Amino acid sequence: MIKFKGKGVYGAIAIGDVSVFKRQDAQVRRTHVEDIQAEFKRFEAAKEVATQQLSQIYEKALKEVGETHAQIFEVHMMMLEDDDYNESIANLIETQSVNAEYAVASTADNFAAMFAAMDDTYMQARAADVKDISNRLIACLTNAGSASNDSSDKMIVCADDLAPSETVSLDKERVLAFVTAFGSSNSHTAILARNMNIPAVISVGEEFLKSVKDGDRIIVDGHTGDIIVSPDADTEAKYAKKQAEDKRKKELLQELKGKDNVTLDGARVNIYANIGGVDGIGAVLANDAGGIGLFRSEFLYLESEDYPTEEQQFLAYRKVLESMAGKTVIIRTLDIGADKQIDYFKLDKEENPALGFRAIRICLTRPEIFRTQLRALYRASAYGKLGIMFPMITSVSEVEQILAICEGIKAELKGEGIPYDEKTEVGIMIETPAAAVISDKLAPLVDFFSVGTNDLTQYTLACDRQNAKLEPFCDTHHEAVLRLIEMSAQNAHKHGAWIGICGELAADLTLTETFLRMGIDELSVSAPFVLPLRDTVRKLDLKA
Ligand code: PEP
Ligand code: MG
Repeated sequence: MIKFKGKGVYGAIAIGDVSVFKRQDAQVRRTHVEDIQAEFKRFEAAKEVATQQLSQIYEKALKEVGETHAQIFEVHMMMLEDDDYNESIANLIETQSVNAEYAVASTADNFAAMFAAMDDTYMQARAADVKDISNRLIACLTNAGSASNDSSDKMIVCADDLAPSETVSLDKERVLAFVTAFGSSNSHTAILARNMNIPAVISVGEEFLKSVKDGDRIIVDGHTGDIIVSPDADTEAKYAKKQAEDKRKKELLQELKGKDNVTLDGARVNIYANIGGVDGIGAVLANDAGGIGLFRSEFLYLESEDYPTEEQQFLAYRKVLESMAGKTVIIRTLDIGADKQIDYFKLDKEENPALGFRAIRICLTRPEIFRTQLRALYRASAYGKLGIMFPMITSVSEVEQILAICEGIKAELKGEGIPYDEKTEVGIMIETPAAAVISDKLAPLVDFFSVGTNDLTQYTLACDRQNAKLEPFCDTHHEAVLRLIEMSAQNAHKHGAWIGICGELAADLTLTETFLRMGIDELSVSAPFVLPLRDTVRKLDLKA
């Protein structure tokens, strides 16, 4: 029995046999070609096949994980057509008389190295994509087909890492779980696994792959990140019991659908869900969330090649509001900068991006962007129950400026005869210590607060949330953060505003009682946490 530890990406337990992922890793050899034109033709033919494969993968992803996540394969198809990439391959074939496989492999190495060296984290991540499409092209050139495993039994796929296209190509019916030696929890692969509901543990380390072979028995605990290779009978029985309990718990939670979020002593709390795109609505409805507490609107900008127009935004917001059929939908205005960079915004490189030009600071400096989004939001407000929320607030004057712009937009729409909902609520995120400390001054200006604990923790404890090394210093239950939340709750209520929490801490069930005792009115969590949270709330007795 050998134990390993990685990061759980999707919380569930799997017990089964190992299938080591066999990638037709292109053993590319450089050969001399005489007929350059014939080589060009081979390359073009391979590109056509690769494009067809990608389009099938895109369709599969669309069905299984939704449009937002499927779009990466559209990006791959675009990369295959990229002029610089194609010119580099053609040049190598022509000037060095080399085979197309070799030209593709060297271009891939060069481009991947170039992307990896960029400062922008989004561009760095493109290195994996360029390798992914190039491996596909090489497989097409050598007729190797796509990576596959032959077994027809259900298996636990173990790999060094999986590219997004490899993850989506896995046959969900035959994969019990997957384990990778490398990878990060924010990679596309991890996000896809979560959305495909496949138990997964990543970043288990290099030794792991040396210790497993096809057919080995293995246990994967996606909750804890524990991996047990060749478990003894007692351990396997223990995990089988845990797995059965998990299943029973999940079934029991289903019975909570339609029930109230009310404690034993009658206190109520709204449980809403967070989404990052229109395709998140399915999970929100399936998990019976009472509304959407945070719609991170930046996805519209991140997925676009240029500033999304008022009409494009209006259609997206309207769709969310209509799908939620009168339930509250809180849409947060653009929050880019820091870890979310967008090329066409042409933001300057900064020494301390988390403390830099981000979110509301960009919107107030570039009002044309802000006004377009606000017009789209107010127009959409006529189609449901909208709340508009502003990120990264630090001062009263920012809120006053925002409110004046909102009033201007409403007057404009009225003048144009365009309907909007006068009752649209306006709120701010409490995610800087400054906002929490002056929450007594901010509360009278708005309808609600929503605490962004991810940033509030980062700024209060001076711990960069992107820096994994700081985890030991970043106590998410730190008294300073909890006091700031409590202070904000008291000030909100004193001035007739309501207060929710939409950061990750809202899903921390060990804090639910603390939050309810503070008087938090709403908790917004990712959709799979709605029913576990409801379960916790219903078992609490605040009078005990
Ligand atoms: C937060 O900071 O807690 C939050 C919800 O916003 P984001 O994670 O998008 O910064
Ligand atoms: Mg934030």
